[in-house]
Amino acid sequence: MTSRTVDHLIIGAGFAGLCAAIKLDEDGEKDFAVLEAGSDVGGTWRDNTYPGATCDIPSQLYSFSFAPHDWPRSYSQQPDIQAYIQQVAAESGTLDRFVFDTPAQDASWDDEAQRWTVRTPHGDYVAKTLIVGAGGLSAPRMPEIDGIETFQGEVFHSARWNHDLDLSGKRVAVIGTGASAIQIVPELQKVLQATGGHLDVYQRTAPWVIPRNDRVYSSVERSALRRVPGLRKLYRAALYWGHEAFVPAFTLAPGLALPAVKQAQANIRKGIKDPELREKVTPHFMLGCKRVLRSNDWYPALAADNVELVTDPIAKVTGNAIVTADGVEREIDVLVVATGFWTTELPITEHVRGRSGQSLADRWRQSGMAAYKGTAIPDFPNLFMIVGPNTGQGHTSMIFIIESQVAYIRAALEHLRRHGLTSVEAEPRATDRWNRSLQRRMKRTVWTRGGCQSWYLDSHGRNTTLWPRTTADFRRRLASFDAEAYREVRA
Ligand SMILES: Cc1cc2nc3c(=O)[nH]c(=O)nc-3n(C[C@H](O)[C@H](O)[C@H](O)COP(=O)(O)OP(=O)(O)OC[C@H]3O[C@@H](n4cnc5c(N)ncnc54)[C@H](O)[C@@H]3O)c2cc1C
Repeated sequence: MTSRTVDHLIIGAGFAGLCAAIKLDEDGEKDFAVLEAGSDVGGTWRDNTYPGATCDIPSQLYSFSFAPHDWPRSYSQQPDIQAYIQQVAAESGTLDRFVFDTPAQDASWDDEAQRWTVRTPHGDYVAKTLIVGAGGLSAPRMPEIDGIETFQGEVFHSARWNHDLDLSGKRVAVIGTGASAIQIVPELQKVLQATGGHLDVYQRTAPWVIPRNDRVYSSVERSALRRVPGLRKLYRAALYWGHEAFVPAFTLAPGLALPAVKQAQANIRKGIKDPELREKVTPHFMLGCKRVLRSNDWYPALAADNVELVTDPIAKVTGNAIVTADGVEREIDVLVVATGFWTTELPITEHVRGRSGQSLADRWRQSGMAAYKGTAIPDFPNLFMIVGPNTGQGHTSMIFIIESQVAYIRAALEHLRRHGLTSVEAEPRATDRWNRSLQRRMKRTVWTRGGCQSWYLDSHGRNTTLWPRTTADFRRRLASFDAEAYREVRA
């Protein structure tokens, strides 16, 4: 097996890994490699090609601040977002350091050598620092349903869409009513309606769905955004602060969400006439407790003749049907699983071993995910995680968080260089302080008090995924490298 030595190793080529690569390169840190399990950049946007896949944060905000783009519409669709990521990657001049189809299988810290060694199927990589951008919504999570493995028809996860399958005239079931399902169902409904097919949608919990103000930009608007100096920045800033305004409703006073509740209720009334169906889709928890979804066509799709919304719990799957707890059996040809991702038990953590030899997964198994500033972890020197614990957002662009974390990592690398250090490692006390404060704050949030079970919470009921303050606050706290919170090793 070959072994290659680089200064920095980045895992993942989604928005996070790409951002790290571009910024390291800008800093003159040219000696790095980006390991990517897939065969292209894009991450989320390479993998989620399901019908209707769209961002739910406006594209002017859901894009890199340093790579503005002439977006065709307010909420762009997956092909446009993926093309944007590919274009940014190509223009950055860093692609020569991306190594595709190369999963990081195992990473371990050698404290004597002060180096990470990362095993891949194509040889080892040895690096001073390891930047993990493996994604928070990257590993599809299949539901545990009795008999699902015996189903004889086609079954696939929303993030692994089977485009070879012709759905014309088929009986399809979608399990889940989360962010992906509400984009998939209206598209499937149309295709199946046109071809005599039928769709069953299995709902465990009705989500809050507010309207989505999506529209195509006019040529005048696009031209103005391109040409008028400062206009694009101003527009982005207005969007950013408009989204930040949601934070108090989530973190301090859920009553502030009342206008959004009214909007969501009006959305139901507009899309559905049948009182029984209206009741089925009305959520019974506080708005914001689960991710607030945006759609104009979700409710009309559920109300269509060829769609049935099933709210009885699924008891089992047989060779050709789904059976619900009330004993009803609905035959299907295709089963689409839109049940989300591994969010609180990230698969990558099984494969990363720190100074003591313990894996990150084992470390987190008892207490749940926790890091210092969502980025650094005691016992894991020179490891920086992007989109780590408690960095997630329900209301605004994850790219803002990614850029904030990458700025912090750059400051850490600069600190290492300037002081001739071989490693920095987050102090346990600083990490505990950070997380205690986070969890104290979490008690007041709608995610904890809102009366729902969500993927934000881990098996201990702790919210280890979301950031409970404004993102402006997050950026401020990560604005400079705070060496006093780290243990340092000198060359
Ligand atoms: C359908 C969908 C829609 C979304 N819409 C929005 C939105 O509108 N706004 C928003 O802010 N966020 C949205 N998100 C969240 C989205 O995941 C983030 O915005 C962002 O794309 C995360 O980028 P990332 O680089 O951290 O992770 P990812 O994009 O998930 O990339 C991680 C990469 O790491 C690779 N990888 C993982 N493990 C390994 C390994 N062991 N070795 C090598 N490579 C590995 C993966 O193959 C992947 O390419 C959405 C997520 C989904 C699933």
